[in-house]
Amino acid sequence: MAQIIDGKLISQQIKDELKEKVAELKEEGKEICLAVIQVGNDPASTVYVGNKKKACEYIGIKSLAYEVPEETTEAELLDIIDKLNKDDNVHGILVQLPVPKHINEEKIINAISPSKDVDGFHPASVGALSIGQKGFVSCTPAGVIQLLKRSNIEISGKECVVIGRSNIVGKPMGMLLLRENGTVTICHSRTKDLKEVCKRADILVVAIGKPRMIDASYVKEGATVIDVGIHRDENNKLCGDVDYASVEPVAGAITPVPGGVGPMTIAMLMNNCVEAGLN
Ligand code: NAD
Repeated sequence: MAQIIDGKLISQQIKDELKEKVAELKEEGKEICLAVIQVGNDPASTVYVGNKKKACEYIGIKSLAYEVPEETTEAELLDIIDKLNKDDNVHGILVQLPVPKHINEEKIINAISPSKDVDGFHPASVGALSIGQKGFVSCTPAGVIQLLKRSNIEISGKECVVIGRSNIVGKPMGMLLLRENGTVTICHSRTKDLKEVCKRADILVVAIGKPRMIDASYVKEGATVIDVGIHRDENNKLCGDVDYASVEPVAGAITPVPGGVGPMTIAMLMNNCVEAGLN
């Protein structure tokens, strides 16, 4: 039977540690503040923003909500970001993505000061990660590293295979595993012999965006399998990119969906906010 990596529990531990740190900072007279900007009212974005606000409340971080209409222009959004960049009382700035089509996402990401870039999407943050300098790291892959470390799963010297090369998950995941001295392979839609490559992995991180694609035939006996995917199946039940029922008997350790990687993303966002406040 595989060890179940409990993301709900681990994310709660992280949030409780942060809550203590935030309370200490408050005693020293420092209040950490995150500004969250949502353009329009996409229902999924509203849920994500709501969850971020709730986590801030729990930890004691002040959250400023900028809920602006769908018609907001790019210039108006850039102006809000500029004001927040200059405001010393604001430590983190987050623009909930995706933004409406008339706004250039790249311009928005680039406008956020790297010192307040708690999502870790700014090119300066990504560059810092790739050359081992200090900077904010994308929350989902940072959460995966915490899941591994806090479950006592050794990364150093291990064969680590990441499926997916997106800017927010796959690529930073590869860089982080490399930073932890893993031997890293990144697979993507053009990878040949995906199964063969995956079967080499001691640690397999799956971020493909395809429900239950990875079954036991991709997994080496005893491997650690981390499932980043989130989907609703035909019965409206949450599932991941990994076929859990097939893989669990083969894996040494595995994350469930829900309750694996999902809750870690917000915990790491909160961690980035606290770090931003300490800078
Ligand atoms: P994405 O669509 O941007 O990237 C998917 C990647 O998978 C691409 O790089 C592509 O090359 C690769 N891929 C697609 N088909 C493949 C195939 N057949 N074989 C090999 N590689 C293939 O997705 P993303 O934003 O990286 O997200 C991946 C998954 O993680 C999604 O299910 C998403 O919902 C989920 N996600 C979860 C969280 C979280 O907090 N848990 C955060 C971000 C994303």
